[in-house]
Formats: sequence, structure tokens, C-alpha cells
Amino acid sequence: MVTVKNTPITVQNYIGGKWVPSSNNETYNRENPANIEEIVSICPNSTTEDADNAVEAAQEAFKSWSQVPAISRAKYLYKFAELLEAHKDEVAELLTKEQGKPLGESLGEVNKTISEVRFTAGEASRLSGETLPSERENVQIRTVRVPRGVIAAISPWNFPLVTPLRKIAPALAAGNTVVFKPASVTVAMGAKIAELFEKAGLPAGVLNLIIGSGRSVGNQIVNHPKVRGITFTGSTGVGSGIYEQASKRLVEVQLEMGGKNAAIIYDYPDVEGAVAQIVGAAFAAAGQRCTSISRIVINEKDADRVYAALKEKAEAYVIGDGLAKGTSMGPLVSQDQLETTQQYVKIGHEEGATLLTGGEISKQDKEGYYFQPTIFTNVKPDSRIAKEEIFGPVLSVMTADTFSEAIEIMNDSEYGLAASCFTKNKDYVDQFVSQAEAGMLHVNNGTISESHAPFGGLKASAVGPYSIGSTAKDFFTDLKVVYDAN
Ligand code: NAP
Repeated sequence: MVTVKNTPITVQNYIGGKWVPSSNNETYNRENPANIEEIVSICPNSTTEDADNAVEAAQEAFKSWSQVPAISRAKYLYKFAELLEAHKDEVAELLTKEQGKPLGESLGEVNKTISEVRFTAGEASRLSGETLPSERENVQIRTVRVPRGVIAAISPWNFPLVTPLRKIAPALAAGNTVVFKPASVTVAMGAKIAELFEKAGLPAGVLNLIIGSGRSVGNQIVNHPKVRGITFTGSTGVGSGIYEQASKRLVEVQLEMGGKNAAIIYDYPDVEGAVAQIVGAAFAAAGQRCTSISRIVINEKDADRVYAALKEKAEAYVIGDGLAKGTSMGPLVSQDQLETTQQYVKIGHEEGATLLTGGEISKQDKEGYYFQPTIFTNVKPDSRIAKEEIFGPVLSVMTADTFSEAIEIMNDSEYGLAASCFTKNKDYVDQFVSQAEAGMLHVNNGTISESHAPFGGLKASAVGPYSIGSTAKDFFTDLKVVYDAN
């Protein structure tokens, strides 16, 4: 068992280059989800005035930051990545202690963040426009990309390091300044991000951290007249509210939201191999990944083999504190997530699905939000457990008579984030790629994304340009078209 030293950590806002408490001095406690008696952090419960101060500081810093050459801006990102690498173990431990995922997964998140930040730093040198011919003599047309101004970055708790950096790094590379609001349950990681940027020498006011509830400070920055762009990752419910408010101010949004990702196994001889990958994608982070696989559609003739392999893999999970050696599944992040998961298991029973494994709270020495990996078979495609995002370790299995029917079931969802298809049939691969209604498609592998590829979704899963990859700059810059008769 490793230990994060000096808990509880007292967390503060970081505004205009200074660490400050909330102006009302109110705080709340965040517990360790693996041991709820332990307080990990004491957090400021900031006011809307504090949020205004953060936006003002970002607006002030924009004047000079936007003039720093892009290649010089990138140096702060490379320095951040270097510092993160140097503090890798400490950051991973904090991530596990605050969020709950096993230490190996936390280290994976840290490593992914380092490579994404380095990729994004490189993107600063590719913020190019294009030149176009003119209908007129001696005129040249060109496009230039300019920073937008103050960007509000609002993030969820499931990937409290990599998700904020997917917003902060491209915003800074493009010359914007940022007001960052982390999820209320993972603010110590938010503060760690600000601390590493401070250590990297980022000028005051370029990155501002505001901690408080989404309904109060989150809502305030969304509606602040000086905020020129909102990049949000979280639930579709909150995202659609932000979209509505932003549209009234005609402010651009990048929304990355919920998912109900499906995997098809059809005409794939290595059923057990497919199941191993699907189970990994279903129960990593205790099913609290936006790209978690939460539905499987299979050919009835494979059912016995699929069920046996699913049961074996799910029951092999070692549930416990993510910092303990050997743990392969940590607790859920909060009491709310635990109750939501329990509620959906109840719904699954009521809807007549068959419980293959799991379905119960997992008792451990310390009290925490532990739940067993859970699998339902004989799930009806139109049932609630097949359609609604649970965001916990619950997997629903359905059968289809034909591959086309499997695709239909997959697409019968309001969401369209990621989808996976295991098949050796080339025609099925073509059909999957052309017909699956999801932003990220995985053929013969689980829903794992890479650091340099665009990340995003369709339907109720996303609005606006995909993050990372070559598409991020479309959100973080304004485009100007110059007609030059010089
Ligand atoms: P959430 O409840 O929507 O919260 C996300 C963030 O929005 C938090 O910082 C939250 O603050 C803030 N917020 C809440 N209400 C707000 C409001 N009215 N105005 C402005 N901000 C507000 O989501 P979550 O429970 O943290 O995360 C789980 C969800 O995120 C799942 O639906 C999952 O699919 C989705 N997700 C999607 C992706 C993707 O890339 N598509 C990636 C990861 C997660 P508080 O914490 O203070 O409430």
C-alpha cells in the first residue's frame, strides 16, 4: 500500500497567479472513496464573485499572453509535461486517493496526459492558415488563426487529469487564457494541475482555477460576458443546459458528453479474446469512463461461450482500495454514483433481465463505495438498462439474429460516442464503419483512444470540434480571412 503524504490537503483557488481561499471562507470536505472516514481535501466553496475575479484575471492576462509567439507558448507546455513526468508517482497516488481508480490506471492516465500535452505543444507550431488565389490581379487571400480570448474549461471527475489538460493545453497553445473549474469531487487534482503550471513559470492570470459547485461558479463562468468559448466534458443533461445558455450569448461550445457504447461480436472465432477486451473496456475505472462499453450485441449461437467467458472474466476482478497491491477494480467515485448503480440493478431485475454475475455492494475492510462488476443477459433492446447511461460497472448483453439487426440495436441510442465490432467478416467491417452512429469506431479492439487522434462523438454525445488531434484548433482559434492587395 502506498500513501499520499499530508492528507487532508487544503486546496485553494488560483486566481491571477495567487492562491486564495473563497471570499466567504466556506469550505467542504472531500472523502477518499475507498475509505470514507479519511478526508483527502478541504476545498473552497467559492462564490460567483470569486468566479468573476477569475474571469477578470484571465481577461487581463490575455492582452500579453495572446502576443507571446506560439512556439514560445509551447515551451510552457513542454515544461509542464517534464514536471508531470518528474512527479508521476505522487500525482498518480493522489489521483487514486481522490478518484478511486487502481494505481496502475492512474499511472496510465498520467502517462497519457504527458504524451497528449507534448503532442499539443507540437500543435502550437501548426496553427497555420492557408493561402488562396484571388479573382483579381495583385491580390492574395489568406486565412489566419487567432486566439479567442478567455476560455471556460469545465471538467468531470472520471479523468480528473487528462480531461482538463485536453482543454487547458490546446487553449494555451493557441494563445487563449483559461478559467478552469474541476468537478467538485476531484479538486485536489485540479490544484495539482495549477501548481505544476505555476512551477513551469506560466505568467500570472493565464490559467485560473476556480473551485465550487457547478450550479453556482460553473453557471457563472458559462454566462460571463467576457468568456469567449466554453469547453465542457460531463453529462448530457448539464451539457445541453450549457449549450442553451451559450447559444443566447452566441458563444462557441465544445461539449463532450455521455455515452452508451456498444460492442458487437459477430462471426469472430476468438469469442473469448473479444470478451477479454470488452470486459476490460466495461470495467476499467469501475465503468466510469465515457467510452466504457456498457452494451454487447451477440449472435445467439455464441451465447453459451460468451456468457461463460464474461462470467469468468468479471469474477476475476479483485475489488478494493486502488492503492492496495493486486486491486483491479477500485470503488465508485461517490455515494451518488453508488446509489445510481444500485438503482439501475434494481431496474434490470424489474425489466426481467437475467443477472449473470455481480449486482451487489462489495464488502471491504474499510467503508467505501465498492460495487461488484455486474452483467445482465437477456436484456431487451428497448429496456432502460440498455438505453440509459449508468456510468457504473454494469454491462447489458443482447442477441441479434443477423449482423444488420446487431447494427440496428447498436444505433438505437440517443448517444453516439464510441462503438466496437469484433468480426473476421470484411463485409461486416465495411457495414460497421459506414453505418455505426458513433464518433470513434474500433474494429477488433476495445474502446481505447490514442494521444494524437481526434476524440469526440455524434448525436447526444458531443457538440463542436473533436478534442486533441488536428481538430482541436478549430475550437480554440477564431479564423480571419485577409484580402491583401499590398
Ligand atoms: P456532470 O455532473 O455533468 O459535471 C461535469 C462538470 O460540470 C462538473 O465540473 C460540474 O461541477 C459541472 N457543472 C454541473 N452543473 C453545472 C452547470 N449548471 N453549469 C456549469 N457547470 C456545471 O458530469 P460528471 O458527473 O462530473 O461526469 C460524468 C459524465 O461525464 C458522464 O455522463 C460521462 O459520460 C461524461 N463524460 C464524457 C466524456 C466525453 O469525452 N464524452 C468524458 C468523460 C466523462 P460539479 O462537480 O460541481 O457538479
